[in-house]
Amino acid sequence: METITTSRPKLSRRDFLKMIGAAGVLTLPALGYGLVRVGGGEFPRATSPYAVDESTRPLSSGEMAGPLLLLINERAENPFGAYLGEILRAEGLNCFQVAPLSAVNSATLERFRLVLLAEGPLDRAQVELMESYVARGGRLIAMRPDVHLAPLLGLERVAGNTAEGYLQVDTGHPVGRGGVAEALQFHGSADHYRLAGAQAVAWLADSAQARTDFPAVSLHRYGQGQAAMWAYDLGRSVAYMRQGNPAWANQERDGRDGVRAQDAFVGWVDLDRIAIPQADEQMRLLSRLISEMLSDVMPLPRLWYFPGAAGGMLIATGDSHQSPASVIEDVLARVEQRQGHMSIYYAPPLMNDWRRTIQRVQSWVADLSGASADLPTPSQVAAWRARGHEFTLHPYVEEGLEAGWQRYWKEFTGRGYGPVSPTVRTHRILWTGWVETARLQASYGIRMNLDYYHYGPAFRDQAGEWRYGHFTGSGLPMRFVDEHGRILNIYQQPTQLVDEQLIRMPWGLGGADIPVEAAVEIARTVLQQSLAGSYSAVAAQFHIDPFAIGGDLAVKAGRWLESTLDYAAAQGIPIWSAAEWLSFTEARHEATLDQIHWDPSGRRLSFRLMASPTLQAELTVLIPPQQGEARLVQAEVDGTAVAYHERHLSGSNYAGISVKAGLHQIVATYS
Ligand SMILES: [Zn+2]
Repeated sequence: METITTSRPKLSRRDFLKMIGAAGVLTLPALGYGLVRVGGGEFPRATSPYAVDESTRPLSSGEMAGPLLLLINERAENPFGAYLGEILRAEGLNCFQVAPLSAVNSATLERFRLVLLAEGPLDRAQVELMESYVARGGRLIAMRPDVHLAPLLGLERVAGNTAEGYLQVDTGHPVGRGGVAEALQFHGSADHYRLAGAQAVAWLADSAQARTDFPAVSLHRYGQGQAAMWAYDLGRSVAYMRQGNPAWANQERDGRDGVRAQDAFVGWVDLDRIAIPQADEQMRLLSRLISEMLSDVMPLPRLWYFPGAAGGMLIATGDSHQSPASVIEDVLARVEQRQGHMSIYYAPPLMNDWRRTIQRVQSWVADLSGASADLPTPSQVAAWRARGHEFTLHPYVEEGLEAGWQRYWKEFTGRGYGPVSPTVRTHRILWTGWVETARLQASYGIRMNLDYYHYGPAFRDQAGEWRYGHFTGSGLPMRFVDEHGRILNIYQQPTQLVDEQLIRMPWGLGGADIPVEAAVEIARTVLQQSLAGSYSAVAAQFHIDPFAIGGDLAVKAGRWLESTLDYAAAQGIPIWSAAEWLSFTEARHEATLDQIHWDPSGRRLSFRLMASPTLQAELTVLIPPQQGEARLVQAEVDGTAVAYHERHLSGSNYAGISVKAGLHQIVATYS
């Protein structure tokens, strides 16, 4: 047995048959390997990559409704209206419904406290519909509005617009309070208006923070209600900021061989702003605008970004190219010592079906005899998964996106490593189209992608300094959107901390090449900023390969891994695998807050929180600790008083209540 396992590459066909004859036939099925398909592997089966279109669902009424309604304008040239729903969910405002503009009338709007109107042209009747809704007390936020809404918005349209500009938030305004002081980039075009009764919440500006006289975001009281304007479309801007410039798709722009997602960020992200999650900050500005516009009507509950009271997340991942099982085991043990879990993205060596069948038998022999096989055996993989780790594909796509996926899926499952789990990082992070890679992956059932990877000369500034942070403008997972505004059923989770960008790797093309202590300091800074207000899920790349190479490189890789994990653990930042993070992200996305009722005389807020049965960790709902003069004195979940923790979020304070899966009735009493 021992000679077989150690001389694997030279195993002859005769040896193999002898071995099968000796023991295999009887015991292979007992191990569940199945002789018929041993080594053959499977191919992925394709399904629709698109998410359910929420605007096709009928609107519910009564207390089930609202308080928020997202209206999508079917006549819009801009296809990103539905993406505003993804923004609301990312912000935890899971208390909205979606409808096409043509399907609503005055009576429909009355059921909602606030309408978020996507960009698009309005006819005269639609303008009057909005005016009468606001006049009677409704709240309206109009994204890059039709010019005929200007009187309702307290604005006067002037000639011109600003493309690819900046906005400067007025941090003295109640809505802007808690926002960042730096001017933030936006993508797309912003129309120029002058204030004619409205207040500016943010101004169009340039990168040097010189503000113009044109509001980027404004707020106006009109009749009994309020109307706010966003001069550019936040949906398009966030999509472009996160996914790069679609006009640059498939272009080699960073000079480093191979088209990657980050090629579409060269000259796109302002490196002086990269430490700020710029898209997230603008989404939080929208949340504050919504909460503030409703503040004299009701306290608005929302969901916190992370499980329980966590102030950030560390998603531990490691690409692994044919690494031996013992090395993977060593790394996972170090992660477990910090109460963490990890995703291993594994590229097995490619073999033909015959060689792979031999490999399977060797795995089986190793499992039976307790001898150490070189490559992971199916039972080792199963044991890692049982310990909470993820072990899944790391496909090579040099031969073509689909061909690469087919080949590696077959190899992976043929080795008995299946099932393929729903998160992935592609080898060399090669990327096709604006979202073609994401679309193909979604069609194969992959629901989280970590290919937006902080790597390469795109992130070196003109002075030669390597810059770090959030090049997609975000530390929050959100689903991809395609060129036609269709939401893909797959989340983008950026990988912000990349070992090969920081430390010299033998295969590396050169990044910062800094001492490991300096690399760890950068990891600490990015994680610390999350706790301090950037509220980010930070994914890190801890390649397994250096541990297999050994020597000084393994020592350095070990310090990078352990020191980064130690810092996260010490700060109370959960260390999760990408699969765990996806599971939480999906459960949070699906959660709903409804039947929201504020009784101003009884000073009592009540609502329902439906948390998906798939939720494993705790979901935290945030409620304002103050409503006018009234202060929160008690919170109850399902009739029982519960403790709540304080949570600061971009200038606002909240009380955080954590719940487990299921349907909950929450009551908050103020006095
Ligand atoms: Zn790789």
